[in-house]
Amino acid sequence: MGVSKMSDCIFCKIINKEIPSKVVYEDEKILAFHDLNPTAPKHVLVIPKVHFESLNEMTSEHAEVMAYLTLKLKEIAGLIGIAESGYRVVCNCGADGGQEVKHLHYHVIGGRKLQWPPG
Ligand code: AMP
Ligand code: ZN
Repeated sequence: MGVSKMSDCIFCKIINKEIPSKVVYEDEKILAFHDLNPTAPKHVLVIPKVHFESLNEMTSEHAEVMAYLTLKLKEIAGLIGIAESGYRVVCNCGADGGQEVKHLHYHVIGGRKLQWPPG
């Protein structure tokens, strides 16, 4: 584990500070930063620092960091002020899932009443 080195991955570049981002939370395992094109008043992305493409590439080696990341979500939601009002966590996977960036990420979205079901 550790800082990812995928040179053509924009989220690895964000982790490595080669591309700027507005960091909400960071530690040695994960990074949370504001989405560049927010879909709601509050929209952050939470990523493991280890590079893997999607849920389809997740293996038991990633179990510890993903459990850690998941446990951190409520704290990150609190940092952007939506822990109490509520929020949605989304992980797009593959073409039909609408995944554009091929580094696993959770969207944490809130700050307004969200519609359900998604499109
Ligand atoms: P997805 O469609 O699930 O792969 O989501 C990718 C997300 O990354 C989108 O919501 C984009 O707005 C966001 N995004 C792309 N590039 C950047 C960037 N440089 N900084 C912050 N967010 C980004
Ligand atoms: Zn990456």
